[in-house]
Amino acid sequence: MINKTTIDQVFEISRVEEVISDFITLKKSGANYKGLSPFTKEKTPSFMVSPVKQIWKDFSSGKGGNVVAFLMEHEHFSYPEAIKYLAKKYSIEIVESVQSEKEKKLNSQRESMYLVADYACGFFENSLLSTDEGKAIGLTYFYERGFTDTTIKFFRLGYSPKAPNSLVNNAKKNGYNIDFLIETGLVIVNENTSKTIDRFRSRLIFPIRSMSGRIQGFGGRVLTELKKSAKYINSPESDIYNKSKTLYGLFESKKSIAKEDCCYIVEGYTDVIQMYQSGITNVVSSSGTALTPYQIRLIKRLTSNIILLFDSDPAGIRAALRGVDLILEQGINVRICTFPDGEDPDSFAKNNSNEVIKQFLNKNTKDFIQFKAKLLFDDSKNDPIKKTLIVRDIINSISKIPDIIKQEFYLKSCSEIMGVSEDVTFRAFAQINSKIKRNESKARDKSLQKTPVIISDLNKIDAKYILEKQIISILLQYGHLETEYEDLVIKLNEKGELIESYENIKSKVFEKIFLDLQQDEVELADPTFRKLFNKLISAYQLKSDSAVNNLVFSDSENLSHVVADLLMETEKYFLHSWDSKNIFVKNKTHDLGQLVSETILTLRKNLINDKINILKNELKNKNNQNLLEDIINYNQLKKTVSKKLNRVL
Ligand code: ATP
Ligand code: MN
Repeated sequence: MINKTTIDQVFEISRVEEVISDFITLKKSGANYKGLSPFTKEKTPSFMVSPVKQIWKDFSSGKGGNVVAFLMEHEHFSYPEAIKYLAKKYSIEIVESVQSEKEKKLNSQRESMYLVADYACGFFENSLLSTDEGKAIGLTYFYERGFTDTTIKFFRLGYSPKAPNSLVNNAKKNGYNIDFLIETGLVIVNENTSKTIDRFRSRLIFPIRSMSGRIQGFGGRVLTELKKSAKYINSPESDIYNKSKTLYGLFESKKSIAKEDCCYIVEGYTDVIQMYQSGITNVVSSSGTALTPYQIRLIKRLTSNIILLFDSDPAGIRAALRGVDLILEQGINVRICTFPDGEDPDSFAKNNSNEVIKQFLNKNTKDFIQFKAKLLFDDSKNDPIKKTLIVRDIINSISKIPDIIKQEFYLKSCSEIMGVSEDVTFRAFAQINSKIKRNESKARDKSLQKTPVIISDLNKIDAKYILEKQIISILLQYGHLETEYEDLVIKLNEKGELIESYENIKSKVFEKIFLDLQQDEVELADPTFRKLFNKLISAYQLKSDSAVNNLVFSDSENLSHVVADLLMETEKYFLHSWDSKNIFVKNKTHDLGQLVSETILTLRKNLINDKINILKNELKNKNNQNLLEDIINYNQLKKTVSKKLNRVL
């Protein structure tokens, strides 16, 4: 916390007209200053600054306030960030109010990590722009991608040299503490030999900045794809970098997002950069992970309009669909635009002029109803059952929107687009809504049976149910496919010591799921899913893939309706299109492997947790050494699973 005296001093010394004229050209007009509004696209000035009153007012957007309010609006700083900015500008020493020892330590640790990250960014930049190796290898590559010098400097792109200790050595020479390089993941230490190695050696560097512009982490791309290593690697999670709370490009594009009142979301670094270079500057990416609610809230500070831009391949469409409900839940309007076959925002922006791109985006951006309708329409034209499913899917999404007026608008639009009467649409909506409420209260009842009542149990029940359902879905649809997973392998080295390493392992999806769960000695919690699980596994073990569906459908125990429901969920459509296009080759099996790993690890963590809780309760009733040992073992297992999960997520 910044102390009160510092804040008072900042307000005393700052001059609003001086601060604002760092951002906007101001002209004297009587006692005031005038300029063009930075918040709208205007041609005649309506932005006023009063040096006497030390305030500003923007008549075109209605915004106004004191100097700090300006920085918060214009730079999207938080309050403390604005105070710090001003303190720096006017050379005021910041005095923080008393902190606990722990807070102090954490803060100074974090500051040191930021410092080191910023230094590394400079080192990578310099290696790219001013060394022979960097110029010959890195710069040439960026030029080939079509990036200009301005773009490269603007995004602070860099190159990490081949020599495995370039960064470490240079950091040492410049007096940086190696511990912080390790803490930020820039340098990796071999636990056995204590030797260090640069994580990003021989890679192109994409620095990732926080909303206020500090370097938090890096993405690194390989140059030669012959190598078997991953195309992109990223900084690991640390005190300063949290992947799920960061958006690549947000710092660079935040002003434009606010001004255009719209934010494009793309898949990765190169899409952001290429779009930006083409003049579409309100663009961010969640770099390689699914969008999180936190990320959506970051955008919400700037606009309530999001447009998702994705490739038109099944993986792209799946990613787009996954994002939709999450965004709707946050009360944000979401639209979607997909690119022509084989193109992504990166290639499209590279090969077309700003005019053409804008035209394309205008013409092809659809709201989520049109998008879902179109996606599935060809398939369902003459099939009333499929059509019903689509309508229900769309209504389901609409039920996520918090604003009832918007809901009504979308329901009308859905009825029109899908050719279903408004009456029926609204009734279906009411039905789905009451079903959601019923489920919520059911979950509540369930948790009420336990004492004491823990609110977070509500979420846990849902999460486990959804995960188990997903596991069954995956088994049903992809169980027989072979794919590759990264897994922790424990081996003996030459010295006879145990070593852990991650290796790629090939196996069938059902084998992986079965073995992973067996290893924990836990079972699915939901009885129906448990039955299905056992049936599916033995069917796969005995028979070929198509036998599985037959077996389940002709099942005497009336599980077939569950299976039918699962199979009819949207994933099914993608399975069809993947199969028919025979897309399940190399790169797509990676997606599947990732999906399976993510799901099974998350579920395992959940189930192991439950098991631990059960054991702990038993331990309360009777003190038993075996129980204690079990708990310790399960805790160990949980740690391992969490570690693996952090790696795949
Ligand atoms: P290519 O030249 O082969 O098309 P690329 O560098 O454009 O390679 P793509 O495979 O096309 O990469 O991926 C598109 C985007 O997805 C990239 O901009 C990248 O930022 C992002 N991306 C891909 N994999 C990852 C990953 N593992 N982590 C973070 N971002 C990733
Ligand atoms: Mn690409």
